[in-house]
Amino acid sequence: MKLVPLMGAAFSMAIAHDFVREQYHQLLKDIKNEKFELLDVLHHLTSGMKSVFTQTTNDGLYSIRQSLGGAGYSAWSGIPAIIEGFNPCVTFEGDNTVMAMQSARYLQKMYKKVMKGKRVSGIFQYLNMLNVPQQPCQANSPAEFANLTMVS
Ligand SMILES: Cc1cc2nc3c(=O)[nH]c(=O)nc-3n(C[C@H](O)[C@H](O)[C@H](O)COP(=O)(O)OP(=O)(O)OC[C@H]3O[C@@H](n4cnc5c(N)ncnc54)[C@H](O)[C@@H]3O)c2cc1C
Repeated sequence: MKLVPLMGAAFSMAIAHDFVREQYHQLLKDIKNEKFELLDVLHHLTSGMKSVFTQTTNDGLYSIRQSLGGAGYSAWSGIPAIIEGFNPCVTFEGDNTVMAMQSARYLQKMYKKVMKGKRVSGIFQYLNMLNVPQQPCQANSPAEFANLTMVS
């Protein structure tokens, strides 16, 4: 049970990595045509991913050690050396708190744009939903709250 969420996180990180790599190659092509729109988006994604990925890995290493019982604390397991080697990753190349704030800043920018009635595109499209007038929930009874079509 300790390792399954970490395996899920590892797959998510690999999928996100592939997406960002594609975007990066697209940006390199765009730059040759003097198009720079993806620059801000990639800054948002990579700073956020640096923060979340290294924090998840750092915290995950402690869960892995715990899952090995006492043996995880022995140098023979190799885990203490991995923890010590990985630990600076949450600080170098930009402290994780600072990186997360940089990522959040761009999201805030997109949010403010939507709140001013403008539409945003690409991976931020979901924010456009914030400007769709919301209908009050029609559900009243427990059975109606269990009915997804009534509460969605
Ligand atoms: C092992 C190691 C190797 C390194 N190698 C290199 C290297 O080869 N080349 C190189 O140039 N640099 C290197 N560095 C430096 C590294 O890049 C910096 O330490 C890192 O970017 C963090 O910057 P900082 O030390 O100024 O800390 P800060 O960014 O000042 O962070 C210090 C603390 O303040 C908090 N903080 C900072 N700003 C805010 C804010 N606005 N709001 C809330 N909290 C905030 C942070 O969360 C953190 O807890 C290395 C660092 C380490 C640990």
